[in-house]
Amino acid sequence: MNNKKDVIEMGWNLDNSYTKLPKSFYSEINLNPVPSPKLVILNYPLAKSLGLNSDELKSYDGVSILAGNKTIEEGAFIAQAYAGHQFGHFTMLGDGRALLIGEQITPDGKRYDIQLKGSGRTPYSRGGDGKAALGPMLREYIISEAMYGLGIPTTRSLAVVKTGEPVYRDSKKEGAILARVASSHIRFATFQYAANFGSVDDVKELADYSLKRHFSYVEDDENKYINLLKEVIKAHASLVSKWQSVGFIHGVMNTDNMTISGETIDYGPCAFMDTYNPDTVFSSIDTRGRYAYKNQPIMAEWNLCRFAETLLPLLNENQDEAIKIAQDAVSNFSSLYYSNWISKMRNKLGIFNEEAQDKAIIEDLLSMMEKYNEDYTNTFISLTFNKNKDKGMFIKEEFENWYNVWIERLKRQPQSEEEVHQLMKESNPSVIPRNHRVEEALDAADKGDFNVMGKLLDVISRPYEHSKDQEEYSKLPSPSSCPYRTFCGT
Ligand code: AMP
Ligand code: MG
Repeated sequence: MNNKKDVIEMGWNLDNSYTKLPKSFYSEINLNPVPSPKLVILNYPLAKSLGLNSDELKSYDGVSILAGNKTIEEGAFIAQAYAGHQFGHFTMLGDGRALLIGEQITPDGKRYDIQLKGSGRTPYSRGGDGKAALGPMLREYIISEAMYGLGIPTTRSLAVVKTGEPVYRDSKKEGAILARVASSHIRFATFQYAANFGSVDDVKELADYSLKRHFSYVEDDENKYINLLKEVIKAHASLVSKWQSVGFIHGVMNTDNMTISGETIDYGPCAFMDTYNPDTVFSSIDTRGRYAYKNQPIMAEWNLCRFAETLLPLLNENQDEAIKIAQDAVSNFSSLYYSNWISKMRNKLGIFNEEAQDKAIIEDLLSMMEKYNEDYTNTFISLTFNKNKDKGMFIKEEFENWYNVWIERLKRQPQSEEEVHQLMKESNPSVIPRNHRVEEALDAADKGDFNVMGKLLDVISRPYEHSKDQEEYSKLPSPSSCPYRTFCGT
């Protein structure tokens, strides 16, 4: 039963539909209190949209809940089981450092998982300590909120709480817990777990649960599982095209980090690209560039194949027929991805209608950006506002030729210059969470100053506003802060 005070005053309205799945899908987790939880940051607008009262969340009881020191519902904590491909290798995984406190039902009837990340060991922790350091949790908070501001499907961050105990990484760090909000934490790897370690009935139960939770609009026709597969393919074709359009590099596109809902999840070694280079990789562990920028659509398709395999017994009784159905569906990914991508890129260049040569216009621009080491975000901003064009690529004859072709192309559509400018403003962010800015905010936070992060969060929450106070944030890093490297498992 929900505790009355937490329900009425704090606004918690938790359900636990996941625990209706077979017991093998999760483990119940006992309270594992941390010594002295202290709220570091709370996401007020998100709390409000979840139906939570921020003042109450900041109270002793509220912070105790966000730290996993107190349950709202008796015995409700669970860690989810999953097993997936990490850099191509299949492994048993699961929430090794996270627990689900429940599913919050919002005032408008939506359902969101509230998960505490960094909350201690679980049966899936393997050799890990189950904990998280403050820096990486704040980093996830910043990047996920930036993605939300950019209009890209993502898990969100409700709060970060310091635990009051140290965690040991390359050095001693402050421990922290992130309260993560997701429309669910069902991953491709959850299906892989069911298919590899469970029965066909387990996969079916998970598929039915996923359909009900995420794709309730899908027709319950003769084979709804084909529709499930098609919906997930659609969601990822759209998601990855959005990543590409803003230069976001996820960094660890393992199947445990791919959600059925199509939300970006697990902000470990991810980062936004400054200089345009399709080979960009930030993750220190991705030595072969498996998850480089240019490979993201390919890896999404690879992951979708792994997901499709888990559904085979549900797609058709005849295995050959089932494989054909799965292949047909997955083979659609590249054209779906391409149509999403080209429509976003057209928008970035102010193009409303479709012409066959648009692809060449876009690709020629990208090639020049690569050749002249131009900044991805700022190039589009320069084109949008017709400014900063007195150096680099912009003074080359090659660019002038391209520019003329582009302007001619814009003239072959009925929209006015003003409409083109408006579309470009809406399609090109002027601020992304640039790596040097994120590092600066995290360094300050580490020293107890949260103002730098607060300002950054404010600016990146409105990336399409193009206001004067944001200009500072579109400046490039000094050459000494390149190349940027990110580290996961922290
Ligand atoms: P990730 O790289 O964050 O996607 O994590 C991969 C797997 O390792 C997941 O099963 C995580 O729960 C687990 N994991 C990551 N860090 C830790 C940690 N410090 N302690 C225990 N498990 C962890
Ligand atoms: Mg993960």
